[in-house]
Amino acid sequence: MTTEAAPASGVVVEQDERAGIAALVVELEGRPMSRFRTLPEPAAVAERRAERIGDDELINRARLLTAGVLLREGRSEEGGRAAHQVLAWAEREGSPYLLARTHRELAIFYRQVGDSATALTHAVQCVGHLTDDVAPVVRARHLLSLATALDETGSAEEAERRFREALRVATAVGDHELALYILNNMAYTASETGDEPAARALIEHMRDVQASSGAPFSANELDTIARVEMMSGRYDAVEATLRAVLEAGQTAVLGNEGDAFAMCLLTLAEARRAAGRHDATQEALDAALRMCDERGLHAVRAQVREEQALLYADTGRYREAFVEHRAFHAESTALHSAQREARARALQAVFEATEARRSSDHFREMAHRDALTGLYNRRFVNERLPDLIGDATVRRTPLALAIVDLDHFKRVNDTLSHSTGDTVLVQVAQMLTEAATGPAIAARMGGEEFLLIMPGADLAEAARRCEALRLRIRAHSWAAVTGSLPVTTSIGVTAATEGRSTPSALLSQADRNLYAAKRSGRDRVVADIR
Ligand code: GH3
Ligand code: MG
Ligand code: MG
Repeated sequence: MTTEAAPASGVVVEQDERAGIAALVVELEGRPMSRFRTLPEPAAVAERRAERIGDDELINRARLLTAGVLLREGRSEEGGRAAHQVLAWAEREGSPYLLARTHRELAIFYRQVGDSATALTHAVQCVGHLTDDVAPVVRARHLLSLATALDETGSAEEAERRFREALRVATAVGDHELALYILNNMAYTASETGDEPAARALIEHMRDVQASSGAPFSANELDTIARVEMMSGRYDAVEATLRAVLEAGQTAVLGNEGDAFAMCLLTLAEARRAAGRHDATQEALDAALRMCDERGLHAVRAQVREEQALLYADTGRYREAFVEHRAFHAESTALHSAQREARARALQAVFEATEARRSSDHFREMAHRDALTGLYNRRFVNERLPDLIGDATVRRTPLALAIVDLDHFKRVNDTLSHSTGDTVLVQVAQMLTEAATGPAIAARMGGEEFLLIMPGADLAEAARRCEALRLRIRAHSWAAVTGSLPVTTSIGVTAATEGRSTPSALLSQADRNLYAAKRSGRDRVVADIR
């Protein structure tokens, strides 16, 4: 080999290496949720290999995989901190795929630490940042995260729509595990709200999926099925459903969460007590208590003691019932304060890590960003626009500006919901970001009103770009978000001229054009008449 050939083949080797790492990362990202314990080692390998070739995107994707494992292992503090670090990189580099994935992990983190409002904000963004070309299974998982977050913040109907959508996608690609997971969530919610027909239909659906996949139900799924059977007092069916857990224990049933087995035993105890089988209830409670002690399951342990108190009461042993109830009360109070402290510690740790990382530059950047969409905000426009106009005047280069306003946006909020409205805003913001190529800047001025500043573009060029944006927005697949309601925009465009070269003059001219677009029927672009 000659010395001249070496650099060229080095480049080829590096490209091969990059493709190899990318393939590994894609495979790890796509692994079924139940197999998260198989991820740490290959994720660490991927991170080291990516570091060796200096590919930041792959390094961060590998780190996010590790963060996800930490969260799923219940190590919220470490997982949350790592995910925040990846978010900072993804925001800086504007990587949509990594943004979507990171927001999903953060939704999981904030849910774990009990901040469901912040979890929802991240869940909205984890769907909002998805591009059209993303793998269906990724889309289904992200919709599932949004559904869960909506469910926890009390938007049951909104949640249901996303659950169904996620289920459609999971079913279409034949991902049985994910389909079952979604159905299980829906069935559990239905049983909690006492909607028996819905719960029953959902567990039938679960059985169909299970039958066609051949894989056994997980302990969690069996527990949900048993709870639904219990709704109509079918205690034999509860017994039959949970038998697998009792007889075979952990070896035959997949326990996808640490406390799933203990929960099954508790459900069994409840069913047996309701059926008046007191001795059998005691057996199930003893087994549950043993498991809780072995595995340190404090939350379930408190519930076991409560159930024990009820059993004593049912059998007329009131003194013991009273003692047991006191013990339950003490355990759950201690538990709640321990949980509160753990949550506070996790949030504090994440906050400190982000604080330490954030330079004053970062704070300035945050102050210039809109929280919902991540676009620049009005404050940024106020500070930056005078300079941009000044620059264009001095250099004698053109500058155009457009106000983009959603049509009949109130309808989305009123007929669907405010959170659907938010999702629409996030997705429109994404399209504006894509439209703002080169030196162009996209901003959210407030509400459903956006601004595009296009340095270097004259009026004709700007009008052409706005028309493309308008068509892109109306052609976007909104059905998943708004159903049959269309999403369109009206756009007012103007360009700087000698007589019109201040921010306020440009903005009010664009606003007049926008008004003309609205008045003449909406869903159109109106530019200055020259
Ligand atoms: P037009 O076509 O004339 O622009 O009609 P419109 O309904 O879009 O305009 P209008 O100004 O009457 O209503 C704007 C609505 O935008 C009212 C408000 O509830 C909603 N909105 C403002 N900010 C937000 C937000 O952050 N999230 C959501 N979901 N809605 C918002
Ligand atoms: Mg509007
Ligand atoms: Mg408006």
